[in-house]
Amino acid sequence: MNDSTSLTNASLHERANRVLVGGVNSPVRAFLSVGGTPHVVASANGSRITDVEGTTYIDYVQSYGASILGHANPGVVSAVQKAVIDGTTFGATTVREIELAELISSWVPGVEKIRMTSSGTEAAMSAIRLARGATGRDKIVKFAGCYHGHVDSLLIAGGSGVANQGIVGAPGIPDPAVADTLVYDYNTVPVLDETVAVVAVEPVAANMGLVEPEPGFLQALRTECDRVGALLLFDEVITGFRLGRGGATVWSGVQPDVWAFGKVIGGGLPVGVFGGSAEVMSNLAPEGPVYQGGTLSGNPLATAAGLAALDQLTVAAYEHLHATAKTLGAGLRNALTEAGLSVQVPVVGPLLGVFFTDQPVRNYDDSKAAADNGMFAKFFHAMRNRGVALAPGPYEVMFPSLAHSAEDIDQTIEAASEAASEIAAAAH
Ligand SMILES: *Cc1c(COP(=O)(O)O)cnc(C)c1O
Repeated sequence: MNDSTSLTNASLHERANRVLVGGVNSPVRAFLSVGGTPHVVASANGSRITDVEGTTYIDYVQSYGASILGHANPGVVSAVQKAVIDGTTFGATTVREIELAELISSWVPGVEKIRMTSSGTEAAMSAIRLARGATGRDKIVKFAGCYHGHVDSLLIAGGSGVANQGIVGAPGIPDPAVADTLVYDYNTVPVLDETVAVVAVEPVAANMGLVEPEPGFLQALRTECDRVGALLLFDEVITGFRLGRGGATVWSGVQPDVWAFGKVIGGGLPVGVFGGSAEVMSNLAPEGPVYQGGTLSGNPLATAAGLAALDQLTVAAYEHLHATAKTLGAGLRNALTEAGLSVQVPVVGPLLGVFFTDQPVRNYDDSKAAADNGMFAKFFHAMRNRGVALAPGPYEVMFPSLAHSAEDIDQTIEAASEAASEIAAAAH
């Protein structure tokens, strides 16, 4: 008998709690907003994740969108295995970094040059610094409920990560750090002035549940930025290489000045990227005065995984993924509505959200109202009991992957149907 067979989620979580803060390395994983004991993952394959007790779930977390191909994709696994033998980090340029940069630049119209980082947070943070350096201005605009990583100046009204914890304000972040951050409601076009360096936006908001930009919103931001000489930053850490090869830029037809990417492009390894025109990027060291760097940036394993992932993201693959999300969205909407629950199930390309409300959700206030009614936690557990793993918080979206089969989707909809009946029955 193997020792690991006696491990339980509860015992490991307790052990984790003694040495990891909250038992986790990122707050959402602690299940605070849904309650219950988080499962400790033993392994994962394709659409499925298995915990240390041997329970297998159809997984819609997919590392919050980092694994678009599903877990342990064979192409990614073998690319990483090949790369690791040649050394894992050098502090010098490698061929795969150039290849990945060429690919990103050829897929996203307007991205001429990039800089790689090790996380999406660093990418967004560095893009903001670049924009401030390029414009010589200090003020930045963001939208409530959009998440741009945990950097001080962008964490206010930061959506999922913060909202799931019920944290009010931003302890640890001094007022001066956010004094130049202006927060507006999503889907509301701010009137800017010439002190604004950059407007940062998730072009499809996916950290307050899924909130689609209303027609004209992104274009109006573009126009307003141009009017005052501010830069427009698309934080595509979720939408990039997920909505399609050209991300939100092609999807919306609106071209920003600066982009932040992450998640998908690392193929499940730690990567971030920010980019822009050659002119904007020339402000960055060593070409210009705005400093940014990183010991592990452009990491050989991460670029190998990223290239192996992008290699499989054909036009047909995206069509398949969009179709999967559409079927799943329609199925969930039906299942929940038939049980008498009020829901909104927005679907944008391959992204999908579930809000328990009869009202359309167009900004963070709407999303919060839906999150506060406690329905999501019930749904989360009812689904988990039926072998479906959703992200443990009402502000997260669902990430169907290319590994989710038609059978997985059917099973998920069936589970939702049963879950919804159970929740509706308990309410009577
Ligand atoms: C996840 C995310 C980030 C932060 O990326 P990390 O790799 O977690 O640092 C930034 N922006 C958006 C839109 C994200 O979803």
